[in-house]
This record gives sequence, structure tokens and C-alpha cells, in this order.
Amino acid sequence: MALSPPRPPRWDPEEPMEEPRWSPTLLDPDTELEPGLQIILVSSSEPSPPPSPEAAPSPGEEDSPEAGPPLAADVCICCGSLQVYTQHPLFQGGMCSQCKDRYLENLFLYDADGYQSFCSICGSGETLLICTRCYCFECVDSLVSPGTAARVQAMSRWACFLCLPFPLSGRLRRRDRWRQRLKDFYDRESDHPLEMYKTVSVWKREPVRVLSLFGDIRKELKSLGFLGGAGLGQLKHLDDVTDVVRKDVDAWGPFDLVFGSTPPLGQACDHPPGWYLFQFHRLLQYARPPPGGRPFFWMFVDNLALTEDTQAIATRFLEIKPATLQEVRGRAPLSAARVWSNVPAVRSRHLALGAEEEGCLQAQARLRPRPPRPPTLLRTCFLPLREYFKASPEPGAP
Ligand SMILES: [Zn+2]
Ligand SMILES: [Zn+2]
Ligand SMILES: [Zn+2]
Repeated sequence: MALSPPRPPRWDPEEPMEEPRWSPTLLDPDTELEPGLQIILVSSSEPSPPPSPEAAPSPGEEDSPEAGPPLAADVCICCGSLQVYTQHPLFQGGMCSQCKDRYLENLFLYDADGYQSFCSICGSGETLLICTRCYCFECVDSLVSPGTAARVQAMSRWACFLCLPFPLSGRLRRRDRWRQRLKDFYDRESDHPLEMYKTVSVWKREPVRVLSLFGDIRKELKSLGFLGGAGLGQLKHLDDVTDVVRKDVDAWGPFDLVFGSTPPLGQACDHPPGWYLFQFHRLLQYARPPPGGRPFFWMFVDNLALTEDTQAIATRFLEIKPATLQEVRGRAPLSAARVWSNVPAVRSRHLALGAEEEGCLQAQARLRPRPPRPPTLLRTCFLPLREYFKASPEPGAP
């Protein structure tokens, strides 16, 4: 669970603020530090001699005496294993195969509040310290310095080890170009067939421009803070696209997200279910920017309307396998949908629906006077977009 720091910010007067030893010219281009954020400097408790110009350490040698040796490339920084499989994408040090799998699995996992719900160092963690990314107490105390986690928790806002202007915190050394490395790590290690876009730093995120076909996702995107305020995103919704041509989409766009869905389960369709897929695919081609450019996402949702054959066609057209999303109460699915998408980490946390379960959901939907609004299920699928587009920090209630 994520913790909000309970107390107002303060600088301990007993703790003199040390000048960070870094040169602005050496800043990582990914570095972002908002004025007013608090910084914890890991320093020796012993008074250090005043730095003289000759003795000024180079950025590679700025370890403080209590920091200990830097983390080695041949040790997993997540669990300490010596069976290193790869290098950690964000911090110097190795990663074992098991920790790599867990890290990839959790890379785009968010809790209900929209915070990343895993530690950016070890990929797990129960109690998390929050910046734009999260960190667990154990990693912070063991890799930065004992007691750091409690000090961070006492702050109202805190700049984490990726946001700080200097790369070294205790034994933890941020890698340069970490956004690129994280992307490379994902592209290399995940079996996701689509390339991931490099995430965008907080201060460079733009409002999202959405084209929503058939199903309207305005409510979901609003609840996540993407829409519904000054400087936030825009959504264009269309129910009937029969007469829409490329020129129209060009004139309405550009778009960053194209969404389409079959009608909710239990609702009468104006067209055969496959029509929604084919129209979505047609308009997606119009909206898609040239490859290698800006982040561009799409999502097609089947509310259990497509036949098995049409599902196979969708997989061929969209060049990705669907994920089955389920809202489960006890052991019975309450609602379910199949989702084809290039949004990172949209994937099944459940096994595919059995024919029996699917039939059961379809029968329930026919009996219910008003079917459950299926895009509710999709809310979490949109959360990874917070790494790319502007969202208000205080999203409305779901
Ligand atoms: Zn490990
Ligand atoms: Zn951790
Ligand atoms: Zn941060």
C-alpha cells in the first residue's frame, strides 16, 4: 500500500544542509527537479573538511564515507543474488533472472490512486515512498542509508533518486539516460511484440488527444485526471463512423489515443459485431502517425460480442494478442472484456474465460435491465498513460 507522508515539510535545524557536489553541466537530460521539492543528502555524520578546488571529487568519486562501496554489476541489487542475469535499468548494479521477471511484470502496475504500486529498485515492496515513482522502505534503508525511509516519510514532498540532480544517493547510483535504458530493458526482456515508447518526464507531458469510437471513455479518462480541466486533454467521441474518411480524421486530429469497442454486453448492436472491429481498424490507420515518432496508443475492446473467428481476425489485423480483463467477485467473474492494445502492460492477470463462464456472463447480461458499464473495467488499462500525458494530480473519484 502506498503511504502519504503524514507531516508537513521541515528541515531539521540540527542537520546542516550540505552543498550538493554536482556540476549543472553534468546533469542527466532526464533529470527533473521542481523547485520546492525536498532533497535528502546522504552525508557523513562526521564533519568533513571544507572542499578545496583541488580536492573536489569528480562525479564518479563522490561517495560519502558511510555510503559503502557502490553496488556491483555482478550482484542483484534487488535480492543480493550472485546469479546475475542482466543489469538493472535504472540504477547501477545487476539483476537476477527471477527479479527481472518480477520487475517486468510490475513495471506498469498501478494502485487505485494511480500511483505505481511497486518499488522502482526491487520491483516489490509493501510500504512505498512516493515521488513520481515509488521505493520500498527496505531498499531505501539498505541501499541509501539506515533511517532514510523514515526521514523521507516525514516530508510532504520529496524528490526521489531518479529526480535528484545528482546521481549518487548512498550506494545507489542512478544510471544516465535511464528512461532510454528502461525502454530498452522492456523491449529486450518482455515478450510484448510491440515496441514501447520511451516515457516522458513530468514537466514535458502534454494533454492527451483522444478519439473514442462507439464506447465513450470520457468518464474513465476524467476520473484519471486526463480530461476535464484547463490545460488537460480533449476527447472526440463518434458513434457512427460509416461516412468518416481520412480527411475528417486529419482535420479532427492529431490524436494520441484511439479507442474503440463493441457495444456493452447485453445491449443491442446496430451492426454485426465484426463491423466495430473493421471500422476501428480503418480509422486507426488514418490516425496513426508515421512509425518512430511520438507516443501513440490504441485500444480495442470486445465486450464478448466477437465470434472466435472474428477474434482471430482482430489478432491478425491488430498484430497483438488480446488480454482478458475480468472483474471478479469471489471466484465468479462479474464482467469481462477482451482487450487488444499497445498500452504498456495491458495484459491478462487472469486466465482466458472458459466457454462456460463466458456463456454465463452473456446470459446474466441478457437478464439484467442495465448492463454494467464495461469501460469501468478498463480504467486501470489507461493508468500507464500517466507516464506519457499530462494528468491532473488530483483525479476525480472513479
Ligand atoms: Zn534478484
Ligand atoms: Zn524495493
Ligand atoms: Zn522522483
